[in-house]
Amino acid sequence: MDCIRIINLELYGNHGIFPEENSLGQKFLVSAWLYTDTRTAGLSDDIKDSIHYGEICHKIKDFMHEHTYKLIETVAEKMAEMLMIEYDKLQKISLEIKKPWAPIGLHLETVSISIERQRHRAHIALGSNLGDREAYLNKAIDALNDTKVCKIISVSDFIETEPYGGIDQAKFLNAVMEIQTLLEPQELLECIQKIENDAGRERPVRWGPRTLDLDILFYDDEIIDLPELQIPHPDLQNRGFVLEPLMALSPNLRHPLIKKTIRELYGELKSNN
Ligand code: ATP
Ligand code: CA
Ligand code: CA
Repeated sequence: MDCIRIINLELYGNHGIFPEENSLGQKFLVSAWLYTDTRTAGLSDDIKDSIHYGEICHKIKDFMHEHTYKLIETVAEKMAEMLMIEYDKLQKISLEIKKPWAPIGLHLETVSISIERQRHRAHIALGSNLGDREAYLNKAIDALNDTKVCKIISVSDFIETEPYGGIDQAKFLNAVMEIQTLLEPQELLECIQKIENDAGRERPVRWGPRTLDLDILFYDDEIIDLPELQIPHPDLQNRGFVLEPLMALSPNLRHPLIKKTIRELYGELKSNN
């Protein structure tokens, strides 16, 4: 991918674990690798089509001055997040924060931390069969967008479906949304569980009635098999209420384990029923 590089931007900041570092401040050098597609700007010769590196340098400077962190790990993490949220065109960022005057009582050229962060693509299933179902689904979509670290790309129509799993209960309203996120899979799980809890979700019986259920279906091409998190969602290929809305959003998405597209999985499910 194309890359705009800012090397050793020299700044002062008050980050450090010692009180003197927080009060006196010291020199930091920030390098940023901004991964973005520069093709459009390359052809148009228009800064609006690119990422303005001068503007980014000033944002980094302001950020260094407005915050005081103990760790350069935190400086890098929060700075990467701020830039990824503010610049849609940034696909990925690498940041290196050097601290050449680190007060360790020994001479060194510099000490630094270097991180790489990028956007991830995920699909989330939504369901509700208690109370104002439509309002619960809409609130979940808004709540996720409000986090800033998740951005809704598209949402399917809401469809009414029969309950799944053999429990006698009211009909569901279901949907699927595609998002971009800066969260790691477990963090995304925590985030959607918080949104479920805020919607008054209780968990008396599995597959029982609920105000709001949010399941991660896919996260990039990742395969995760932990006790608390399985991705892709292990039962999605058997669920019409998941595959039908997924068909509307991403029919050509390929299941990374089963190796079939959503269109193929949906076709198989329909022909088996
Ligand atoms: P199902 O997962 O079969 O649709 P459910 O949604 O009714 O069932 P819940 O009671 O909502 O199940 O969740 C049970 C646990 O599933 C959660 O505590 C969570 O840790 C775990 N889980 C595992 N994989 C996922 C995933 N991909 N998305 C959401 N939760 C998951
Ligand atoms: Ca579920
Ligand atoms: Ca769930």
